[in-house]
Amino acid sequence: MSIKTFQDLIKEVHEKGICQECGGCTSFCSAAFENVIGFKEPNSPPEYINKDACLECGICYFLCPQTHVLDDDLNKTYQFTDFTSMPYGFAEDIYSCQTTDEEFLKHGTDGGVVNTLLNFLLETKVIDGAIVSKVEGPFSRESMFAETKDDLIKASGTILNISPQVDEIQKFNTYTRSIPQLSHYKFKKLAIVGTPCQIYTIKCMQDLGVTPSEHVEITLGLFCYHNFLFEKSQIAKFEKDFKLKFEDIVKINIKEDLILKLEDNDSKEKIIHIPFTKLVNYIRPACHSCIDFTNIYSDISFGGLGSRDKYTTVLPRTEKGVQLLQKALDKNIIKSLELDENTKKEMKSLIAKFSEAKIERRNEFMKNL
Ligand SMILES: Cc1cc2nc3c(=O)[nH]c(=O)nc-3n(C[C@H](O)[C@H](O)[C@H](O)COP(=O)(O)OP(=O)(O)OC[C@H]3O[C@@H](n4cnc5c(N)ncnc54)[C@H](O)[C@@H]3O)c2cc1C
Ligand code: SF4
Ligand code: SF4
Ligand code: SF4
Repeated sequence: MSIKTFQDLIKEVHEKGICQECGGCTSFCSAAFENVIGFKEPNSPPEYINKDACLECGICYFLCPQTHVLDDDLNKTYQFTDFTSMPYGFAEDIYSCQTTDEEFLKHGTDGGVVNTLLNFLLETKVIDGAIVSKVEGPFSRESMFAETKDDLIKASGTILNISPQVDEIQKFNTYTRSIPQLSHYKFKKLAIVGTPCQIYTIKCMQDLGVTPSEHVEITLGLFCYHNFLFEKSQIAKFEKDFKLKFEDIVKINIKEDLILKLEDNDSKEKIIHIPFTKLVNYIRPACHSCIDFTNIYSDISFGGLGSRDKYTTVLPRTEKGVQLLQKALDKNIIKSLELDENTKKEMKSLIAKFSEAKIERRNEFMKNL
């Protein structure tokens, strides 16, 4: 059997328009020092840069989240069978948590739990740093390496003083290309926060035992229904459609719908909810082909869905995830609501509903490819 290579990724993934631009193939290329493949343009798939140096080893093909070659291996490790019987994967239990740290709560997307846990891992020296994503402007983020609490606050959800950046940004993209950051930090222990497509590629590399994935001590996965990508030229339409001024957006959150917090000149706050169905023109095309909503291969997953305002829904999946959550609860770094079995059932059923809707969207999209 011939080994599939980056050439096959071009044919089977890029040309079909389903490259998620996670950067897994470029970051873990066996001939990385030869600069074989890389991103030439922002917001477009990677390309050959030095094709002659390709070793035709197939690693890039194996770990691409759109080829699913290693699914059987990963499924065994993560106690997952299939999306029909387990729409949101295996989880030890379900929690609704909030940080006990005022700053993380103030700046957090939901309950400020993710950054609080990262800070705990830093303080207890379980990790040397974390790859996260900082806000550049509304609908625009960039990956960053966080080593301190201050760094983590910068990577929290709230957008501040964004008006100057809005003018400079040509394309708005909520997706953060975090994986390529991995190779820049040769520390022994890293945590990474990511969407399901990003975590998938890291887990494939860990499954294959290929460097630099051994530096990733723990993965904190975010729920992700989709990311947004649109041109500056679409802003006027966005403003008209949703009756808002782009520069007034101070915070973005995604739960059952897109939630925008706006502030006007009098510093009065206004919250608006936009249903996903009205946002189709602004969704990253490749996200339509994505099957995993809750980050089934992460050590521990987080989302707003299912929890009340300012709380984060938490699904610990692996021993590492379970232990991290337990230690943080024991030390009162985060707190958890007492949930009765009925409430847990309702939360799970809501998450399953969104997971199933995402699977359905993917199946429809793939039929038309
Ligand atoms: C693009 C995207 C889509 C999402 N979609 C949903 C959804 O449909 N339903 C749902 O319930 N929840 C969704 N979430 C998760 C939700 O918005 C919160 O991130 C989650 O509940 C954790 O909240 P928190 O307050 O505990 O996290 P915080 O303590 O605020 O920490 C959030 C962490 O996420 C990192 N981060 C932010 N954006 C990105 C990004 N683009 N890529 C990688 N890391 C990032 C930040 O750097 C920070 O470390 C989505 C998140 C993102 C980034
Ligand atoms: S060297 Fe291997 S990983 Fe790199 S592009 Fe070629 S086939 Fe892919
Ligand atoms: S690994 Fe990621 S960036 Fe590379 S082809 Fe696959 S989806 Fe695209
Ligand atoms: S929906 Fe989320 S996980 Fe899926 S490709 Fe888009 S950004 Fe990645």
